[in-house]
Amino acid sequence: MISYPSILQPIHDFLFVTECLHCGVRLNNGEQRVCNNCWNALSIVRENDYTFKVLIDRFREGRVIDDFVTLFYFEKGKLLQTLAHSLKYEEVATFGFELGVRLGKKISNKTIECIIPVPLNKRKERERGYNQSEWIAKGIASVITVPVLSNAVRRTRYTVTQTHLNAEERKKNIADAFEVTNADAVSRKNILLVDDIITTGSTIQEIARVLKNAKAARVIAGSAGLAKLGEDA
Ligand SMILES: [Zn+2]
Repeated sequence: MISYPSILQPIHDFLFVTECLHCGVRLNNGEQRVCNNCWNALSIVRENDYTFKVLIDRFREGRVIDDFVTLFYFEKGKLLQTLAHSLKYEEVATFGFELGVRLGKKISNKTIECIIPVPLNKRKERERGYNQSEWIAKGIASVITVPVLSNAVRRTRYTVTQTHLNAEERKKNIADAFEVTNADAVSRKNILLVDDIITTGSTIQEIARVLKNAKAARVIAGSAGLAKLGEDA
């Protein structure tokens, strides 16, 4: 360990980030941006869970998403919520990438030919400087080694934030909000469509619909997080 004159310590900390971006504890060797405690506190989504089954049924009814893979529940106060905060570029790059690596390991046995991240509004992307779904996609691609097609789908119009809309309102809000920009790239392909957090699934279904219209063979939905439904939802 190099020791710094106290005047240089802040510069060292800036260059070599040493704190967990969620809880702020000092990171141990081998931990990158997030401590193991915060990773371990996440609740893993199981295929028999109520929420997962509801989403699978919804996707089956919608008939455009062929399979669904997700990792953790999105819970208040836990690590994934930091994704919804305005992380700095470097933070989302390493954290999003690591989420993608974990998701990639879970889906490595499925036949996928390319990965498409859910596009952000250009306005939002400009404000934030990044699309976190794209970093998750890059992390997955590092495991299953297929190309990430970040520009194959784009938003055609601005959509209002969906936080306070119910499932039906979300569906309307998002209808015809996307288009395929490169039909050759998606035609007859098995595609992994990646979002950071899935709530009702309406956005990812709408993009899957557009991809299927462009003759995509299979669309597998993938997300790092899943919003948990109450049993009465
Ligand atoms: Zn932590």
